[in-house]
Amino acid sequence: MRKINVFDTTLRDGEQSAGVNLNFQEKLEIAKQLERLGVDIIEAGFPASSQGDFASVKAIAQTVKGSSITGLSRSLEREIETTWEALKESAEPRIHVFIATSPIHMEYKLRMTPDQVVENAVAAVKQAAAKFPQVQWSAEDASRSDLPFLARIIREVIDAGATVINLPDTVGYTTPYEIGQMFRYVSEHVPNIDKAILSTHNHDDLGMAVANSLAAIQNGAGQVECTVNGIGERAGNASLEEIAVALNIRQDHYQAKTNLTLKEIKRTSTLVSKLTGMVVPSNKAVVGANAFAHESGIHQDGVLKNKETYEIITPELVGVSSNRMVLGKHSGRHAFKDKLVELGFNGSDEQLQKTFVAFKDLADKKKDITEEDLFALMTEATVGSAVSHYELETLQVNYGTTNIPTATITMKLPNGETVQEAGTGSGSVEAIYNTLERVVDEPILLMDYRIQSTTAGRDSLAEVYVTVQYDGTESSGRGTAHDVLEASAKAYINAVNRTISRKLFNEQRTNPLKV
Ligand SMILES: [Zn+2]
Repeated sequence: MRKINVFDTTLRDGEQSAGVNLNFQEKLEIAKQLERLGVDIIEAGFPASSQGDFASVKAIAQTVKGSSITGLSRSLEREIETTWEALKESAEPRIHVFIATSPIHMEYKLRMTPDQVVENAVAAVKQAAAKFPQVQWSAEDASRSDLPFLARIIREVIDAGATVINLPDTVGYTTPYEIGQMFRYVSEHVPNIDKAILSTHNHDDLGMAVANSLAAIQNGAGQVECTVNGIGERAGNASLEEIAVALNIRQDHYQAKTNLTLKEIKRTSTLVSKLTGMVVPSNKAVVGANAFAHESGIHQDGVLKNKETYEIITPELVGVSSNRMVLGKHSGRHAFKDKLVELGFNGSDEQLQKTFVAFKDLADKKKDITEEDLFALMTEATVGSAVSHYELETLQVNYGTTNIPTATITMKLPNGETVQEAGTGSGSVEAIYNTLERVVDEPILLMDYRIQSTTAGRDSLAEVYVTVQYDGTESSGRGTAHDVLEASAKAYINAVNRTISRKLFNEQRTNPLKV
């Protein structure tokens, strides 16, 4: 059985999804969960793109030791140097350096001849290999490159010290048959190919990212690049969970395995969905809410008699637990802490205390506390508190079918002062948002507003996701509360706080890259 390395790029390529802006704390939480999932390589960001990216890649490299950490870099001397500064403390420093190799990219984007591109790639790989034990080199837009040229440049960069060769389908254009041909061609025409691992990286513009990844694996790729829930620019990247489960369920066919702990898949998916605000469609393979729901009577009957009649994947395999009650009103601190640790909590005592208070409060209002509830509270306490320039203190809403909705809000300002404001609107949420806009004293444009429940049942926690335009940039925010209006207020304030944080820490990326 061949071992396939899983290279997760949720924090780099995935983070480039429109409307996604993860902060430092959120990236760290996701990286820790990816380590628990057993990902071999985590692409933590693009360190030379901004101070914020540099800081988060460095922190992940210092914290996560169970996975190899990498960062993207263009083939520029100063960028490779900056990437080394960010990654030198990681368990196995690894750089991901790239240059475009397709005729259209070389001519119009790089304005370089093929010879100049080879020269540039070799120089970059040599510089990187002098410091990094692992050097991944990517041929951007490989799937639209000329195959003999690809073979030539790959041979030269391997001689220069590259240990992984990635052949991305940057624009999501290739097909399973063609990508198979490309990997086979490279394996057969690059004489020193045994000195490097071949890697595949696919985009889903034609809905073939996962199929292309699997075809590349069948034709020689020993590393697969993907993102949790398939998030990423445009139509996204190949989805980690679909590739992992396909390799597992169809072991007979692919004869390949990964190091992933599959039962961590559902939790990883939920965490990434919550923190990015990108909802997982119910019909999504492996992690969608309906992925294991058998509706048809004939199917249900079959599954009751023998699961294997219609069920090829068990929910347990990927960590989908039936929504069972785990704690109740009278559960003590000790049982509570044990349960959180089981869910992957590794925060401070202060965060533990904060989550415990929120749990007791919820237990007063909701009969059964499930794992989903605890996970929502825990996420709120560990990453929600990282940004609090404005803080909601009290909220009161007056609504009736015959009167004008009015909101009264007390808020703590960034300078520590407390203010009270009141405002009206044509609905309760609008009244809240009009009032908050007055507190912040700057126009805020609401671009998107979504609400969902954490669990089933009318006593569920409410989760609100918003996208706003504030201070010249677009920012997303989320809020969790027992009441939908409070969750709505929190999400709005969270979006504003995140904009302020990004400006303060210069996390604004000047130069997003596509590979
Ligand atoms: Zn990509």
